Amino acid sequence: MRKVTILGAGPAGSSAAIQLLKAGHQVTIIDRVKFPRHAPGETLHPGVEPLLKQLGVWEEIRNANFLRHTGIENTSNGIGTFEAYNEEESWKGFQLFREEFDNILLKKAIELGAAFKPNITPSGLIMNGEHIKAVKTAENVYEADYFVDATGKRAWLATEMGVEYKRIGSQKIAYFGYVKDASLNPINPIIEWDENGWTWIAQVKDNQTAWVRLDLDEHRKMDNNWIPPKLRDGRSTGTRKAVDVTWRIAGQCSIGNCFLVGDASFVLDPGSSHGVLKAIMSGMMAAHLMEQTGTHSMAKVHQHYNSWVRNQFNHDIEKLMEMYEKYEIKTNANNV
Ligand SMILES: Cc1cc2nc3c(=O)[nH]c(=O)nc-3n(C[C@H](O)[C@H](O)[C@H](O)COP(=O)(O)OP(=O)(O)OC[C@H]3O[C@@H](n4cnc5c(N)ncnc54)[C@H](O)[C@@H]3O)c2cc1C
Repeated sequence: MRKVTILGAGPAGSSAAIQLLKAGHQVTIIDRVKFPRHAPGETLHPGVEPLLKQLGVWEEIRNANFLRHTGIENTSNGIGTFEAYNEEESWKGFQLFREEFDNILLKKAIELGAAFKPNITPSGLIMNGEHIKAVKTAENVYEADYFVDATGKRAWLATEMGVEYKRIGSQKIAYFGYVKDASLNPINPIIEWDENGWTWIAQVKDNQTAWVRLDLDEHRKMDNNWIPPKLRDGRSTGTRKAVDVTWRIAGQCSIGNCFLVGDASFVLDPGSSHGVLKAIMSGMMAAHLMEQTGTHSMAKVHQHYNSWVRNQFNHDIEKLMEMYEKYEIKTNANNV
């Protein structure tokens, strides 16, 4: 049995925790906020379903009655094309509220025995060479055999360890918000292309629509009150937020006794549309590789995880670039 401390209780952290607990390890999860907490990222690709079954949360997900959709409506120059996930088997994705979804995963980890420490901000690391000995917080010191950085875009652990990120292409800021009572509330998400980028519109609850705007013209400033023209007959709920989604990848995603998972390992703009799926996959993969350290050298494990993450990143960048080229949008991503 090994002791593992996971920072971050999003889908990456909870998935790693569930797999580790199922394998008999001792897990502590620390998050800087209380749960449930809000996060953007409501559209889940159907490919998430087998992973949720493997994690043992399928019953809970089904009982939550999240909205399901069968594909994406792509609109360019006023012409819409529906892209079904899979016409023959009517493969379905999810439209959901992340606070509910992330809480289901976290609850499963707690049920399996994880110690969850919410509302705690780590203050530093105690190192032993390249290995982390412990994470310090104001109240405690968390020692472990392995550490997982699942802190999302903040990548707190990686930053503390001095891991550098390679940034690709121009800076990309995604804006997002929510609207109630709009006459447009589509179950199948709509992605609308224009000369500067795209706008994503999707129903997340009966009477609530989520939107995301990514403008690839770096010099254009978004008006503070901007909402998609198609949703202007509704009313905005909460404040519009902005997130840096510049494409980036950690120089090393597995280092010493630490694994970087989810957005802490790499970030792509939401146009790639499967950040949550990737977060779950990487959490599960890191847990699986920690199991392998009994039979394989740590160097081999590092090599495997780093190339696994890099291959996914490169594959997704290629797909994103193809997509942007198709709609004649410049990404300035010639330094891949
Ligand atoms: C506008 C927008 C729209 C998106 N839309 C989609 C979508 O439709 N579909 C999709 O699949 N993906 C989408 N994504 C991407 C998706 O949100 C992320 O890929 C996903 O949340 C990554 O999960 P994670 O577990 O790595 O990190 P997160 O979900 O960000 O979780 C990280 C956790 O770490 C905690 N934390 C942070 N710092 C610390 C610290 N120092 N110590 C302890 N805990 C810490 C946070 O509180 C948080 O709970 C979108 C992203 C954006 C910005």
